[in-house]
Parts: sequence; structure tokens; C-alpha cells
Amino acid sequence: MSEPSSKDSGATKAPMVYICGECHNENEIRPRDPIRCRECGYRIMYKKRTKRCILFNFT
Ligand SMILES: [Zn+2]
Repeated sequence: MSEPSSKDSGATKAPMVYICGECHNENEIRPRDPIRCRECGYRIMYKKRTKRCILFNFT
């Protein structure tokens, strides 16, 4: 369900682009979406915009 920005409360932030740490696939992850690669299911990803490697470990 992708709703265009209409009467959504607050600012509609664009989804962040994360790079998979395994297959380097670009994934658009929204704040509410689980951090997981859609290609391989890897859970360690890092933001594309920042150079800092941000790891997400969900054990
Ligand atoms: Zn992946």
C-alpha cells in the first residue's frame, strides 16, 4: 500500500536508502519498516548517504 502524500500528519519523510552488507543491494527502508535486505534477507545494512557504517543487529 503506497499512498501518495495527502493528509498524512506531519512531514512525510522519504524512505532512507540502505545498502545491504551482504549483497550490496539498495533497499529503501522506511522508519517503520524492518531493517532487512529484500534480496538476500541480510539484516546488517548501512546508510547510503552517510559514510559512517551503521550496523543494525537484530538478534
Ligand atoms: Zn542483501
